[in-house]
Amino acid sequence: MKVARKLEILADAAKYDASCASSGAVKRDSSDSPGGRGIGSAGGAGICHSYAPDGRCISLLKVLLTNVCLYDCHYCINRRSSDVARARFSVEEVVQLTLDFYKRNYIEGLFLSSGIVRDADYTMEQVLRVAKTLREEHHFRGYIHLKTIPEASQELIEEAGKYADRISINIELPSEESVRELAPEKNLRRTQEAMGGIRNRIEEARAEQRDRQRVKEKGYREKADAFAAGAAFSRTRSKIYANGQSTQMIVGADDSTDATILERSDHLYRSYRLNRVYYSAFSPIPSPSQILPAVAPPLVREHRLYQADWLLRYYGFAVGELTPQEGKNHGHLDLDLDPKLSWALRHRDRFPVDVNRASREELLRVPGLGVRNTDRILKIRRWSRLRLDDLAKLRVDLKKGLPFLITADHNPARLGLDSERLRARFAPPPEQLEFDFSPSPEPTRKTFESAVTGEV
Ligand code: SF4
Repeated sequence: MKVARKLEILADAAKYDASCASSGAVKRDSSDSPGGRGIGSAGGAGICHSYAPDGRCISLLKVLLTNVCLYDCHYCINRRSSDVARARFSVEEVVQLTLDFYKRNYIEGLFLSSGIVRDADYTMEQVLRVAKTLREEHHFRGYIHLKTIPEASQELIEEAGKYADRISINIELPSEESVRELAPEKNLRRTQEAMGGIRNRIEEARAEQRDRQRVKEKGYREKADAFAAGAAFSRTRSKIYANGQSTQMIVGADDSTDATILERSDHLYRSYRLNRVYYSAFSPIPSPSQILPAVAPPLVREHRLYQADWLLRYYGFAVGELTPQEGKNHGHLDLDLDPKLSWALRHRDRFPVDVNRASREELLRVPGLGVRNTDRILKIRRWSRLRLDDLAKLRVDLKKGLPFLITADHNPARLGLDSERLRARFAPPPEQLEFDFSPSPEPTRKTFESAVTGEV
């Protein structure tokens, strides 16, 4: 099989993985153009965009080593019982493709994953060989994100961090029961052990980095010499060890509530110091398994989970506060409103909040006030009392915030914080239900900004 055909199959098979943080841009496929002569689409060749740890948007070759797999995870298009075209790259082919694309300036890095062939250790060795060859033989300094295989040995998984900038292990489903039902050959405990191993190695490498920095800064010559003499291996490792790990959870393939999903994420952030949990709305695949739902969950559910995720990590919210504990939506996020606004409407007794006096924790809970603006407000108010104009200049979302905040020239009493109709001011108007096969509305600029900055 020609490499171009393999690339077509294996790049397409990799597109379901969200854990490399593809940007949310609308896809334009130039191969649809008359005669296939369009230009500007890299999607067909498996090139996607991702954000590097320093915030740069980078292009990655996103591809599988193979889509042949011994496992039969029901939600996966590459499962062994799936009727799809199969292909397999050799290690040398992926290395060459990466180098060729890099030299032509198509990409700045590689995202590599794989189905499981022969056994988990063998597959992990192949994935590792790609990264090792790129780094050691070709001195490739681009970004590498490796998807590791939790069933492989811990040594191999940890070794991946020596060559990759980012490592991910997909947890896929939030509960043991769902994993047993939908991915019977996988094991949640094993996945978490692998994450724990990677976390320990990342922390060791960071501690060494800090030690070295301290030695350098304080100028302890003797200690530096001893360190350099006795720790040749550590020095190499800490310089190149991955700087983070991430995972992905599929939303809507099982009946887990949003509360269950967020509890799992919260546990992962706290216990394994993950950089990100990515949420991927389940999309029905060709020749699906009978036990999967026939329709995809609404995409807005994925968006609400991302917003709730930011609130957990940066705004001081707890999972139990974000998802209603009673009522018909028990355990689920409000799809009509962002989770912070929804929480504020359920806790009106905590408002209005005076932006000139409130604590940082209180300000972070005001709808429309993000982390950056909260910190700016705390600085500005040391010198002057804030007015509505000042908030407008900071580009605070006043449409959301006005009923919930007090400024020097604004008190929302007359806006009816207790009014039954307050929710209706924010919720989308009710619609007549009908069969609608038109595409979803285009996301707005605000949606993109919120997805990238996490300002809720
Ligand atoms: S192990 Fe990975 S590639 Fe194989 S079926 Fe499961 S999810 Fe798909």
